[in-house]
Amino acid sequence: MDAPRYDIDLRSDTVTRPSPGMRAAMAEADVGDDVYGDDPSVNRLQAVIAERFGFESALFFATGTQSNLSALMSHCGRGDEYLVGQEAHTYKYEQGGAAVLGSIQPQPLENEADGGISLLRITNAIKPDDDHFARTRLLALENTIGGRVLPMAYVREVTDFAHAQGLCTHLDGARIFNAIVKLDIDEPAAVAGFDSVSVCLSKGLGAPAGSVLLGSRDFIAQARRWRKALGGGMRQGGVLAAAGLYALEHHVPQLAQDHANAEFLAEELRTIGLQVEPTQTNMVYVRIPAPKVPSLKAHLQQRDILATITTRTRLVTHLDLPRRKIAAAAQAFRDFPHWDP
Ligand SMILES: *Cc1c(COP(=O)(O)O)cnc(C)c1O
Repeated sequence: MDAPRYDIDLRSDTVTRPSPGMRAAMAEADVGDDVYGDDPSVNRLQAVIAERFGFESALFFATGTQSNLSALMSHCGRGDEYLVGQEAHTYKYEQGGAAVLGSIQPQPLENEADGGISLLRITNAIKPDDDHFARTRLLALENTIGGRVLPMAYVREVTDFAHAQGLCTHLDGARIFNAIVKLDIDEPAAVAGFDSVSVCLSKGLGAPAGSVLLGSRDFIAQARRWRKALGGGMRQGGVLAAAGLYALEHHVPQLAQDHANAEFLAEELRTIGLQVEPTQTNMVYVRIPAPKVPSLKAHLQQRDILATITTRTRLVTHLDLPRRKIAAAAQAFRDFPHWDP
């Protein structure tokens, strides 16, 4: 049975479906067996993205979770630890994979309001070389995090600091292109200071699947071994890589429209009297009084709108939501009959 499909889906930028142009690129993709290193489309995607970000090497993954996990396992061994934000995907939203599958201890640290982790917290968390402690090996950050762009001065300072302390640095850059477009900087500038970076093609860029891990040649060789152990060796992966290449070529500048749409939606919701957090990229966070949560969700569904309604509701703009649909969503919020107690 088909799940109901809603015209306006604000749950995430992962819900985007491949466009006709992307599907054509997939259909025409030249492919081979990527476990043998033979897939020309996968190889091309890896070469293109490594060059674009200024890294030696790149590796294509089915998912960002697998890319992040392979990165953590390549940086850290059994009994090592990584410093990571409480709110980070690599800590909170990956089932503890680093600990469960990698024997790596996470040391979660409070995120600041801007999404960073303070140098003081990092300093205090680095363990001395002592039999009592795990070996602190890695600092893992995320950009964007919860729709927020990390300040570039902070990124420079914290990665320099981590390296000076002998740590490696990993960036979960699932939405790094949102930061790049928002700050109007180039790719190498956005990821400077990181030894490895994971980039998602299946979020705002609109590919049906795929992430790419960036790093040195040696690091990527190690990550490739872990990818295979994690069941991530794909055969004719070029069908997916072609979608990624298409996304990189066609869907990056349009992220600015997603950001403008989020700003527009936030402004509209404020005029209803709702408490909306400042938006930076493609995510709008709005407070919904707890008693209104179920009725608002039902009201929106009647208007053909799907959203994850909680007391801190996240609404995400994306490629499949042109301004007219965002305006319709705003109107549906406005028409909700139960705002006043
Ligand atoms: C989506 C996402 C990932 C990877 O998720 P997958 O669903 O496994 O592709 C990693 N980090 C962040 C911040 C994400 O948003």
